[in-house]
Amino acid sequence: MKDTNEHARSYYAATAQWRSDYPQLAGEHRCDVAVVGAGFTGLSAALFLAERGYDVAVVEANRVGWGASGRNGGQLIDGFVELEKIERRLGPEATEVAYRMGLECRDIVVQRIEQYGIDCDLKFGYLDLALKPSEMDDFRVEIERKQRANYPHAMRMVEREEMPSVIGSRLYIGGMINSGNGHLHPLNLCLGQARAIEQHKGRIFEQSPVMRIEHGDHPKVHTAEGVVHAKKVVLAGNAYLGRVEPRLFGKVIPAGSYMIATEPLGDDLAIELLPQDNAACDQRIVLDYFRLSADRRMLFGGFCNYSGRDPKDITASLQPKMLHVFPQLADVKVEFEWGGYIGISMNRVPQMGRIEGNTYYAQGYSGHGLAPTHMAGKVLADAIGGDFEQFDVFARIRHWRLPGGKWFANPALAIGMLYYRLKDLF
Ligand SMILES: Cc1cc2nc3c(=O)[nH]c(=O)nc-3n(C[C@H](O)[C@H](O)[C@H](O)COP(=O)(O)OP(=O)(O)OC[C@H]3O[C@@H](n4cnc5c(N)ncnc54)[C@H](O)[C@@H]3O)c2cc1C
Repeated sequence: MKDTNEHARSYYAATAQWRSDYPQLAGEHRCDVAVVGAGFTGLSAALFLAERGYDVAVVEANRVGWGASGRNGGQLIDGFVELEKIERRLGPEATEVAYRMGLECRDIVVQRIEQYGIDCDLKFGYLDLALKPSEMDDFRVEIERKQRANYPHAMRMVEREEMPSVIGSRLYIGGMINSGNGHLHPLNLCLGQARAIEQHKGRIFEQSPVMRIEHGDHPKVHTAEGVVHAKKVVLAGNAYLGRVEPRLFGKVIPAGSYMIATEPLGDDLAIELLPQDNAACDQRIVLDYFRLSADRRMLFGGFCNYSGRDPKDITASLQPKMLHVFPQLADVKVEFEWGGYIGISMNRVPQMGRIEGNTYYAQGYSGHGLAPTHMAGKVLADAIGGDFEQFDVFARIRHWRLPGGKWFANPALAIGMLYYRLKDLF
């Protein structure tokens, strides 16, 4: 998986609504807020700010949506953080704030799509799959807990005998359907939000890696050819940020995650495999996740790489997993393979904070970021506007930096994941 400054050769890049071609940053620019990175976090923050009248400039090293945001599974799932972690660390009030954020993050995505007419194949319906009875028990507990909390979306159990009506696979013993979650084309969601930023007079620069940030009362964001003078800065480079801000380096671990897309399956086979067109995943830490695209391909993601080395052949690694779930795909061609980096935080809690008073950041969604990034963008925009209620909940959480940064850290992470893999076996 060799990264260039153009999009990865993914199904999403091949079917994008349009190809962004914003100018490179050159010369001197001034704005209220400079946003580094045009993934969901950066685009969401920039759009909230631009809607509120801030003059924003987004500076992206590659293309809009080039990172994880334009390459992911497209699975739209609510929830911002595991609430037990917040309860344990910060108590019930903060937990209530985090719970509301978990609902709101999904709503922000849906509202954005509706408000700006973003054509990104949004479909509702999410199927959690159980491989063992204890997972069915967990689903029952989850549904009861959500009902008690007046969860706004319909949820239901799918017992074994009903499984053929939701999935054409014999692997699973049951499931749980959430009608509020769903799936979409993530790169088109990025591109739609970029257009919305433009509508609000925001500026976007592409192929402009930020090399240095000069902090102070009037921070400056430097690229090779230009500089943005800003009042505030948002750092939204997540797993790709590298060493631009040394205080963040090593706080998230870039973990490779990979996907394949088959050729179009045709209606009959597509309906046989996922009759209700839900997005789906199993419950393991290193999980299988899959869904149909709008043109009825199987999009299948299934393993994470914590070693710092990408697999030589993504299809050879993922196709057997797909065939294990859906043997019916044995003669179907895989047409696309790609991967991207997820920012993992040690405690799997998203990181938000502030550096030197006027530089804000959000990162480390740990594999579940499509909806949370949109929430994080709003929280950063609120904080920049002086409302710290939600920001402070997360800024209070201590995050560990891994000694030696990402490369020394990977063996430690690999051991951690081995532990979780073993846990999956029992
Ligand atoms: C294969 C894969 C599948 C996934 N599936 C799902 C899923 O189904 N559902 C889900 O909820 N989450 C999923 N995720 C996770 C989700 O995609 C991420 O959590 C989310 O997209 C992170 O968004 P972001 O904006 O923070 O980071 P990114 O999207 O990675 O964006 C960071 C951007 O910053 C830019 N940048 C970095 N450094 C600089 C710099 N110095 N100067 C300028 N620009 C810079 C990068 O070029 C990049 O465009 C998946 C991730 C991957 C990789």
